[in-house]
Amino acid sequence: MVSTPSSTSRDDAFLRTRIEAIYSIALAMIGMDLLGSALMASLFWQQGNRVWLAIWVIASGIVIGSRAVATMAYKSGRFASIPSRRWAASLTAFAAASGLLWGIALGLIVATGTDSQVMFAICVALSGLTLSIAHVAYWPMYAAFEIPVMVAAALGFVVSDRPGHWPLAGAATVMTIVLLSVSRRLAAQVLHAHRLAAANQALVESLGARGKALEQACDALERVSRTDPLTGLANRRQRDSRLADEWERALRSGGPLAVVAIDVDRFKRFNDTHGHSEGDRCLKAVAEMLQAGVRGPIDLAARHGGEEFMLILPGVDRAGAASIAERVRVMVATCDGDAGFALPEKVTISLGVAAIYPAPGRSVHELTIAADAALYRAKMAGRNRYEIAVIDSVAAAA
Ligand code: GH3
Ligand code: MG
Ligand code: MG
Repeated sequence: MVSTPSSTSRDDAFLRTRIEAIYSIALAMIGMDLLGSALMASLFWQQGNRVWLAIWVIASGIVIGSRAVATMAYKSGRFASIPSRRWAASLTAFAAASGLLWGIALGLIVATGTDSQVMFAICVALSGLTLSIAHVAYWPMYAAFEIPVMVAAALGFVVSDRPGHWPLAGAATVMTIVLLSVSRRLAAQVLHAHRLAAANQALVESLGARGKALEQACDALERVSRTDPLTGLANRRQRDSRLADEWERALRSGGPLAVVAIDVDRFKRFNDTHGHSEGDRCLKAVAEMLQAGVRGPIDLAARHGGEEFMLILPGVDRAGAASIAERVRVMVATCDGDAGFALPEKVTISLGVAAIYPAPGRSVHELTIAADAALYRAKMAGRNRYEIAVIDSVAAAA
C-alpha cells in the first residue's frame, strides 16, 4: 500500500515537474507577450485612442515585467527555499493577469475596431492562445489565461454592430469550449504519464529496497546457519566446510594443516552437580577461551557437538599445534573468577592434536579421526592433557 507521506511527496514532485516545464519555456512566452503587446499597442495607436494606449502599455509592462522578474528569480535557483506551491500560485496569478489584460484589449478592439484591425487582433490573440495550450497541458490551472481572452472576444462580438457579429460571437464561444476541452484532455494525458512515471520510479525504488532487505536477510540466515547459537563459535557445518577448504588450500600450497579435537572433562558430572544452565555458562566460557587462544580469522574454533570443540589451524605443523593445544589447556585449567567467568568449579579439557601435509589420495577425515583418537588417548591417560596423533611418517606434519 502507498502511504500518505509518499503520495504527498509524489504530488509535490508532480507540481515541481510542471512548474519546471512551464518555466523552461517562460522566456519564449515573455517574448511572445512582448510581441503581442507591441502589436496591440500599434492597433490602439492606429485607433488614435491615447488613453487606452497608455493604460495598455503600463498594464502590459507591469505584467510582462513582473513575469520576467519571477522567471529570472526561479531560473537563478537562489530562491529554492520558496515552496513549490508559492511558485505555482505566482504562475497562476501571472496567467490570470495576462489573460485579463489580453481579454480586455481584444474585447475593446473587437467591439470598436475596423474589420482589418479585428482580424489582426484575433490573429495575434489566437497565436497566444495556441501557445498557451502547451501550458494548459502541463497544468489545467493555466486556463486562467485562455478563458478571459476567449470570453472577451465573444463579448466583443456580441456588443459590436458589425454584420454577422452574432455568428462570430457563437464561433468564439464554441472555440473557447473546444479549446478548453482539448487542453483538458491533453492535461489529463500528461498527468497520467507523470503519474505512471512516478509510480514506476517508486516501484523501482521499493524493489531495490526489498532486494537489499532480502540480501541482508539471506546474509543473516547464512550467518545463523553456520554459527552455534549457544557459544557463537562456528558450528559443525562451518567446521566441515572450512576443513574441506583448508585441505584443498594446503594441497595446492604444500603446507601443513593441523586440528585439535577438544572435549570438556567430566562434564556430565559438572551438569549433574551445578545444573544445566551453569553447564551452558561453562561451555560459553570454554568457547571464549578457545577463541582467544587462536589467530583471528586464519584459525577457526568450532563447537561441533555437546561439549566437544575443534581448532582448525592452517599452515601449522605438529609442534605448533601441540603448543597451541597446551596454551588453551592451561588457559582453561587456570581460569578463575578474575577472568570474568566465575564458574562454580574448576573445569579442564582434554585435547587430541593431529597435523598432516595433505596429499592426493588422502582425506581430511584421516586428520579428524587421528585427532579424535589422540583425544581418546588423552582421556585414557587421565584427562587435562593433550596427546599427539600418530599419522604415518610420510604425511605427518612433524
Ligand atoms: P569425559 O571426561 O569422558 O568427556 O566425561 P563427560 O562427562 O564430559 O562425557 P559425557 O559424554 O558422558 O557427557 C557429556 C555431557 O555433556 C552430557 C551432556 O548432558 C552434556 N551436554 C551436552 N551438550 C550440552 C549443552 O549444550 N549444555 C549442557 N549444559 N550440557 C551439555
Ligand atoms: Mg564428549
Ligand atoms: Mg566430556
